[in-house]
Amino acid sequence: MTRRFALMIDPVAADAARTDFADTFTAVDAAAPALSVGELSTQRGDGVFESIGVVDGHAQEVVPHLERLAHSADLCDLPLPNQEQWRQAIERAAADCGPGEYVIKLILSRGVEHGPTPTAWVTAAPASDFSAVRANGVQVVTLDRGYDLDIAARAPWLLLGAKTLSYAVNMAALREAHRRGADDAIFLSRDGFVLEAPTASLILRMGDRFVTPAPNGGILHGTTQLSVYEYLAERGFEAEYDRVPASDLTRADAAWLVSSVRLAAPITAVDGIALPVDHRLTADLNAYLLSPRD
Ligand code: PLP
Repeated sequence: MTRRFALMIDPVAADAARTDFADTFTAVDAAAPALSVGELSTQRGDGVFESIGVVDGHAQEVVPHLERLAHSADLCDLPLPNQEQWRQAIERAAADCGPGEYVIKLILSRGVEHGPTPTAWVTAAPASDFSAVRANGVQVVTLDRGYDLDIAARAPWLLLGAKTLSYAVNMAALREAHRRGADDAIFLSRDGFVLEAPTASLILRMGDRFVTPAPNGGILHGTTQLSVYEYLAERGFEAEYDRVPASDLTRADAAWLVSSVRLAAPITAVDGIALPVDHRLTADLNAYLLSPRD
């Protein structure tokens, strides 16, 4: 049977002095309606979220996800989440996940028009089977994101470093990639630099050096990329943040899209130009990403 789980959270202040938050959680039927029609997350995409991978009941990289949730909330002027309250909500959701891979989502919304505000909930559901894409990889196309690399500093109200619920543009980019016969997309800045994929970070290998676009406000700082960098450092590789010109994509010795649930998908082609695939390192990365990590 497909297991699904949902928990409404009554958010408490970030600095609340308490240790047990069980009485702030209400388990609800994940298949039944639970939100008000006045929810601003559904009306305007006005809220932030996180997707956390769960492997055999272990929620991965909880602290980096909670830190990014807080960063996103801060950028959006939402009340800061109480880290311990959300950690306990994740623990509760993870306890309900069976063996295999699941995804836990954390949602913090502006709330209901004219109150109450904010609204918060956590869900858990089985993850799709990504084993084939982890082994066989993805063909990508590059798509213009329409702004320059330095836009975040000039226009912080675009909320580019926040993981907001407004993913319509990201989903449209994936549909455009599919229309062009590819599996996924890589966004480029208008001035010709690599940004990220619509739902993943990008890592390139150039010889023994690994590089990912610097998360300077214009893209999300990926939790999976952070984990991969820890792993590469342990193996003695140089792994850096940089400005990555679009022309580097087809010069790479290997490249991956990495994200919390799909994990590491090797890139097999960029705009129809084949890229070498490092099968052994890809398998190592995915084995590492499937091992329990905090
Ligand atoms: N960039 C974007 C736009 C994303 O939506 C995601 C994940 O959903 C990522 C990067 C990768 O982040 P993470 O590794 O934390 O899943």
